[in-house]
Amino acid sequence: MRLVTYKAKGDQVERLGVLTEDGVVNLQEAARHDGVSPEPFGGMLPFLWAGEASVERARKLAVRGPGGGVVALSQVKLLPPVPRPGKIVAVGLNYRDHAMESGATQPPKYPILFAKFPNSITGPEDPIVMPVGDTQIDYEAELAVVIGTKGKTIPAAKALEHVAGYMPLNDVSARTWQFSDKQWVRGKSPDTFCPIGPYLTTRDDVPDPQTLAIRARVNGTVLQDSNTSKMIFGVRELVEFISASITLEPGDVIATGTPDGVGVFRKPQIFLKPGDTVEIEIEKLGTLRNPVIAA
Ligand code: ZN
Repeated sequence: MRLVTYKAKGDQVERLGVLTEDGVVNLQEAARHDGVSPEPFGGMLPFLWAGEASVERARKLAVRGPGGGVVALSQVKLLPPVPRPGKIVAVGLNYRDHAMESGATQPPKYPILFAKFPNSITGPEDPIVMPVGDTQIDYEAELAVVIGTKGKTIPAAKALEHVAGYMPLNDVSARTWQFSDKQWVRGKSPDTFCPIGPYLTTRDDVPDPQTLAIRARVNGTVLQDSNTSKMIFGVRELVEFISASITLEPGDVIATGTPDGVGVFRKPQIFLKPGDTVEIEIEKLGTLRNPVIAA
């Protein structure tokens, strides 16, 4: 199931929907139509907090006959699937080839965590805005994991039960700030530096998150081309490692690291500039596309 957050044309309200072949099913409207409570379907966070039962209900509501609640995709603006995650936990150097291109002599012994603040979230087709003060702006194709069930000290064997689903994420990075500061948060958290989407694919459609082709393209040229099988620490290990000390809650996003091919380590270097278009494509999860504009 492909979950979307969207606004219909002429409607200012953010809505939760399911993307189907016929268009976007407005879950609240479909619930009213079918005589069930629309309450859990007011937005992605309340929906995820409502638990697995609401996910099952959404799956049933998404199968529409001729009756109400379906909007053509051309009539909606897709928003970030999780518009305001409580936290975004990112992982550095989690693909061997990327760790090596960065100059590491050996891969990290445990996951390197850093933060992206939620202000950095932006949606599909929304612009990545170049900040004033750093021109070395880079793309990073990443598999994003969205938490569905709250947990702490989650063992790896149970980790996927806490996952709502997956989506492409671009860990846009201001490299001058990232490398000149002692830590990465300023370079990783400018507004619009965390595009996500276009939709959240629920975990039942992704039986194994470690088998997905992942690519980044800039203006159509493939610059990253890898597979999530090449992660050093897989999704299960990351959930276990993070939740050992940090409670994970519904809607939290884990950015699982990027493969090799980022712009800063290429020869010659490639940085994003106004007018560029960046695409992050992950097998089964769709393509996240964003233009780059000046501040
Ligand atoms: Zn990254």
